[in-house]
Amino acid sequence: MKVTFLGTGTSQGVPVIGSDDPVCLSLDFRDKRLRTSVMIEDQGQVFVIDTGPDFRQQMLREKVKRLDAVIFTHQHKDHTAGLDDIRSFYFRQKKDIPVYAKKDVIEQLKMEFAYMFVADKYPGVASLDIHPITNEPFSVGKTTFTPIEVLHYKLPVFGFRIKDFTYITDAKYIEDKELEKIKGSEVLVLNALQKSKHISHLTLSEALEIVEKVQPKKTYFTHISYKLGFHAEVEKELPPNVFLAYDWLKLNIE
Ligand SMILES: [Zn+2]
Ligand SMILES: [Zn+2]
Repeated sequence: MKVTFLGTGTSQGVPVIGSDDPVCLSLDFRDKRLRTSVMIEDQGQVFVIDTGPDFRQQMLREKVKRLDAVIFTHQHKDHTAGLDDIRSFYFRQKKDIPVYAKKDVIEQLKMEFAYMFVADKYPGVASLDIHPITNEPFSVGKTTFTPIEVLHYKLPVFGFRIKDFTYITDAKYIEDKELEKIKGSEVLVLNALQKSKHISHLTLSEALEIVEKVQPKKTYFTHISYKLGFHAEVEKELPPNVFLAYDWLKLNIE
């Protein structure tokens, strides 16, 4: 299984255009973060988790030629805004694009992309094949996704475990019974927004507490704000086998 970090950034605390924050101006490519999303290639299929506002740019960058399904963590715009751009895959593949999401996420997509859900669609609009999911494992082809429910302030959102890879973004709190599902992961991806307190996202120290509890072999943090600091400096402060993810990073996981 191959994992590609399409984006590791956030819309949270986006500085005003023209910001002179040194992290925003950094020339280190690892400090240039598009909105958070990941691509998973497994057994001949290609999946993306979330289609944020940078989805099109991410697909072009990675030269992605097919898309077998989109799996959504939650309905916030930084994770859904790029959905319309699955149109090129729809035309190339000539079939509805499978989308897996919780009921409340589907309802939100129906409001925000209403023209994609009407019976008589305008020519050129992509069609979706909607699969509602609950907090139970589901399979797409031969790949099984196990949802992990986490709280994003008060909103329950999904992370996913695929084999020994676990991907969680936009968490603030994870119940013990959901943490149990993560145990034994070779690689955990977890959100860590910044060092200072935040109402709906794990801070760096809160994310490290979860790593301590779960003890994955390796951890990569994502959904990172410029407020966390320079990639090169923050990574030096992390324990062994804990890293900051960055856009373009690829992992091979058996
Ligand atoms: Zn969110
Ligand atoms: Zn987010």
